[in-house]
Amino acid sequence: MIQDIGPEVFRNEYSRKREPEEEDRVFLFRGRNVLVRTGMEETGTDIAVPMVKEVKAAGLDGAFLQYLFTIEETAYYLWMSREPGSAAQEPPVIPGYEYGRLSLLRHSRPRDLSFAGETAYQLYGWYRDNRFCGRCGAVMRFGEKERNMVCPVCGNVSYPKIMPAVIVGVTDGDRLLMTRYRGREYRGRALIAGFCEIGETGEDTVRREVMEEAGLRVKNIRYYKSQPWGFDSDLLLGYYCEVDGDTDITMEEDELSVAEWVRRADITETFENMSLTNEMICRFRDGAGFAHEKRDAVSE
Ligand SMILES: [Zn+2]
Repeated sequence: MIQDIGPEVFRNEYSRKREPEEEDRVFLFRGRNVLVRTGMEETGTDIAVPMVKEVKAAGLDGAFLQYLFTIEETAYYLWMSREPGSAAQEPPVIPGYEYGRLSLLRHSRPRDLSFAGETAYQLYGWYRDNRFCGRCGAVMRFGEKERNMVCPVCGNVSYPKIMPAVIVGVTDGDRLLMTRYRGREYRGRALIAGFCEIGETGEDTVRREVMEEAGLRVKNIRYYKSQPWGFDSDLLLGYYCEVDGDTDITMEEDELSVAEWVRRADITETFENMSLTNEMICRFRDGAGFAHEKRDAVSE
């Protein structure tokens, strides 16, 4: 999946003091657009982001480079306005690079740049949205010891936003409940999904979302895996479960355009090694961990 960049090692320890080196990399975002260089396919690389020396050469008027994290020997920085309270500056264009859609990062080589990009974007959004204290309205300061924003007036501390959500593979013997979202950029097939609400366990969210989106009761809920999804500040929790009783679907039409049972043999998705949803669909198709259901299928 996108976070599986091994053998390379992701280090997210915060350091306010780490000085950018010339060949470290910088992410510059304008909304959901990211500054990248493209058109290098013959080199085995789809995209690149500017080096520190290129950004410095273009000028850092009123801006600075905020250290984010390191992958192997490369540190990644975020171009930011120097004063959190000043009017948000538009980041510059660096010669040789142009702003492209964030989705460029999803299937790019090198793979570690996809993961670095989604994680940098999550931090960009959090810094952008926490310039002022939510408690007293004062201008926040960058944390010195931890990755946070601190209010110098009332002491309020804001940490990066991480929103837990569930992805649910609902099964009925040889069939998997598959969906399509209504009105989203992503056009492929998906699984039941939704955010954890206050006071819920992950399992509570699974039961509620499957009922809301498909009108089905479920049993035998099993946790599978998790995935950080920085494009939307999510921490995705994957679960499988089985339908309990009535299998007739009542689809929630506001969120979904399709919700249907799909037989294993009719699942045409290929393994992309990127999203948890795709991995869970392909894992069911291949029968891994579903010995019980497979026996049912053979006996039909
Ligand atoms: Zn405050």
